[in-house]
Amino acid sequence: MKAAVLREIGEPLAIEEAPVPRPGPGEALLRVRACGIDGTDLKLLDGFGYVPQLPFIMGHELAGEVVECGADVAGFAAGDRVVAYNFVTCGSCVYCRRSRDQLCLDMRGIVGILGVPGGYADYVCLPEQQLIRLPDGVSFEDGATCCDAGMTALHAVDRADVSIGDCVLVIGVGGVGSVATQILAASGVEVIAVDTDAAKESWARAQGAESFLSLEADALVAEALRRSAGLGVDRVIDVVGLEDTMRAGFAALRRGGRMVIVGYTPDSLPLSGKELAQNEKEVLGTRAGRRDDLRTCLGLFGAGKLRSIVRATYPLQHVNEALDALRGGVIGRIVLSFD
Ligand SMILES: [Zn+2]
Repeated sequence: MKAAVLREIGEPLAIEEAPVPRPGPGEALLRVRACGIDGTDLKLLDGFGYVPQLPFIMGHELAGEVVECGADVAGFAAGDRVVAYNFVTCGSCVYCRRSRDQLCLDMRGIVGILGVPGGYADYVCLPEQQLIRLPDGVSFEDGATCCDAGMTALHAVDRADVSIGDCVLVIGVGGVGSVATQILAASGVEVIAVDTDAAKESWARAQGAESFLSLEADALVAEALRRSAGLGVDRVIDVVGLEDTMRAGFAALRRGGRMVIVGYTPDSLPLSGKELAQNEKEVLGTRAGRRDDLRTCLGLFGAGKLRSIVRATYPLQHVNEALDALRGGVIGRIVLSFD
């Protein structure tokens, strides 16, 4: 099979011939049909965040078709269309027992990110418990985007705990910001989308944003305050995570408002304890999503309540061009497509 292999941090992926993996007990062999690429992949290439042991096959937004099952696989059979939940959890720690899968204390690996090879290859072997059925009518490409962008957006909106009529700043209109905007808009929330790339305005509006701002941090705060009669916005979802965006988001927040930080960079956010306490502001983190968020996201796609964010597809052998395009700034999601 063909595989794109990360052999050295900072270098392009090597397109190589590799043996098709064999499914062990409890594992299924998938033919990969689609695999999304996103900012986490760029972080892996840069050696920031997660650092897998090399060589490694990335690809954490994958959808495929079961071609063979190892012993003891009961829930799936050859021909099943599936996507992969990334976090390989222990299933028994205090967080697993509370269905907060992505906070597992004894994580065995993260598909395509850490320890478990992902979808930048024609085939992949995964434990059965990672597989979730792809609903009829949802394409492999859209299913793949649910595995990170979709479920992360769903979970972030859940953490934001919005009410009908709220005004929410969504900072960063990439994959996660796009799906978050769709969900918020469908929930009766006014979305002000924010992105440094002014070319994303029509895209953001098509996702359901009522307005779009492409402003530096200070001007952004002033505009958010002006639009909310000086009170500030109800919620902020920051998918970027730079000091500037977090600082602006916090300053734009009304009393009792909540900021949810989704994206992260090496930056930190110095917070005034006085401003936090006296205004009862809340700052929350959110990490990817739970198995249930992924199931819900697939269900929403299946019911036609979420729209595709895929704007470009590349074949596996052109994965480095796709990653370069992402680094240069793209609108919507890029997905690797397999014949
Ligand atoms: Zn656990």
